[in-house]
Amino acid sequence: MSECSYCGKTVLFGGRTIEKRRYCGAACASRHGLLELADQVPHDVLRKHAQAWRAGACPKCRKNAGPVDVYAEHRVHSFVLITQWRSRRTVCCRRCGRLCQLRGALYSAALGWWGFPWGLLVTPIQIARNVAGMAARAPEQPTPSFERLVRLQLAQAHLRQRSKVRIASVAAGEGVTHR
Ligand SMILES: [Zn+2]
Ligand SMILES: [Zn+2]
Repeated sequence: MSECSYCGKTVLFGGRTIEKRRYCGAACASRHGLLELADQVPHDVLRKHAQAWRAGACPKCRKNAGPVDVYAEHRVHSFVLITQWRSRRTVCCRRCGRLCQLRGALYSAALGWWGFPWGLLVTPIQIARNVAGMAARAPEQPTPSFERLVRLQLAQAHLRQRSKVRIASVAAGEGVTHR
């Protein structure tokens, strides 16, 4: 059993492998180039951007309230034989992250218990994960998931820049032939 290198989903069967990376499907496999590029971001560049974004305004509340990072919220709801649970990651400040976790805990406490047996088993786990998240101290360093996101953002910006340069040179070339 392996995880998709791009989205983190568990790949049970099918999927694609490119140069030792596993992908859950074509959509994620098409990100292979981006991932390769993200791995090449030099450490000092990564650090510099991660620190700057971490200290910047929160994308959710727009305030400079605390370290911006990736915060996870966990939810479960169930009804008789159907139980569904998921974790959602949000880039935001610590305060917004805690609010998400509180909402996740309340949501799970209200809607998690109504299925058997998974609802009864998963609900305490999801509530505990949210509570642990709320109780945890603000990360002193950018977390690995935040660093990964910064890497991907930098790689994406680099690709955009490169295609812009290419378009600009094509346009300039056409200008020359018309003259
Ligand atoms: Zn995937
Ligand atoms: Zn915020």
